[in-house]
Amino acid sequence: MNINTERLVTSFVTMCEIDSPSRHEKNFSSYLQETFSALGADSIEVDNSSADTGSETGNLIVRFSGNTENPLFFSCHMDTVEPGRNIKVDRKGDIFFSKGDTILGADDKTGIAALIELVTLLKENDISHRPFELVFTTCEEIGLLGAKALDPSLLQSQYGFALDSTGPGDIVIGAPAANRIKITVRGKAAHSGLSPESGVNALSIAAEAISRLPMGRIDEITTCNLGLITGGTATNIVPESISLEGEVRSHSEQKLDEVTKSIIAMFETVAENWPLPEGVTDKPEIITEVDKDFPLIDLDENSLPLVHIRDAEQKLKREMKKVIAGGGSDANIFCGYGLPTAILATGMMNVHTTDEQADLTKMIELTELLIALVTK
Ligand SMILES: [Zn+2]
Repeated sequence: MNINTERLVTSFVTMCEIDSPSRHEKNFSSYLQETFSALGADSIEVDNSSADTGSETGNLIVRFSGNTENPLFFSCHMDTVEPGRNIKVDRKGDIFFSKGDTILGADDKTGIAALIELVTLLKENDISHRPFELVFTTCEEIGLLGAKALDPSLLQSQYGFALDSTGPGDIVIGAPAANRIKITVRGKAAHSGLSPESGVNALSIAAEAISRLPMGRIDEITTCNLGLITGGTATNIVPESISLEGEVRSHSEQKLDEVTKSIIAMFETVAENWPLPEGVTDKPEIITEVDKDFPLIDLDENSLPLVHIRDAEQKLKREMKKVIAGGGSDANIFCGYGLPTAILATGMMNVHTTDEQADLTKMIELTELLIALVTK
């Protein structure tokens, strides 16, 4: 079974040139639906996640039945970051670029092109294969919204692979869980020229708490950042309310929980002990919101994706480099649904920049791997 390299290229370039910025994936989804329908998909379904995500369309699920039990899924996201409109693709040898004023869209269309070539080859050569499902999500780039809004009971597969990594490494088997935190400090406003001593400065309280907290890399597996600050009303008013937003990430759910709690506890301790102006009895208030942003990826040797990868490695006589990543992606969300998911490198490079590139050699390697994963 020979990969048709120029067909893979044409399909990739065509898809890059169909704009699909987050929430505007509908045209691109229609292209995929037509493509997979022509390739004999057994079912094509658009879910109703758009109500939650605000996208023009839902996640797209395409199913191909096969000659064995135990389906697996492959997932890619349909959306791209900005600037991602009117993309024109350039090629130099095996490397693809944009014309320079937009991203390329290799993230994640390298993965999708490999999937289309896989299905085309299976059909063209009438090859028997395992049943598999293709999951194309919306709004990955703006907070994994499509995957978060997916009803996992729509999937028959028990495990899968997301095709969405830049490398280094060929397969991501671990990635942190993350919490988003918002902390609002409420003090008391006062005119800063006439009676500053009667105010309780929310910014000073926040600054004191932050100065006592570790930030950045907390330990080998945990990071923390407060990245947004808003508040205050005027230069001549002691700030009454300050809000801070940030995140904690860790490769241990327990550590994630501990660090998140310790940040909140520090703000509460500082507020509790803050000296109050005469006549003021109300202590400064700390209001916190913690949202689980994404759960952990932590695949061991016996997990279904890694057992299956070992089998493919033997077939291909190729050893894949396994790595731990620092980011969150749709695969984290699938893992949280109880569907162990590893992330495969697709040949995309410099993603989220106008220097984004795709490497054809890597796209071919990925296609070979996909063939090995779905055939005997
Ligand atoms: Zn991506």
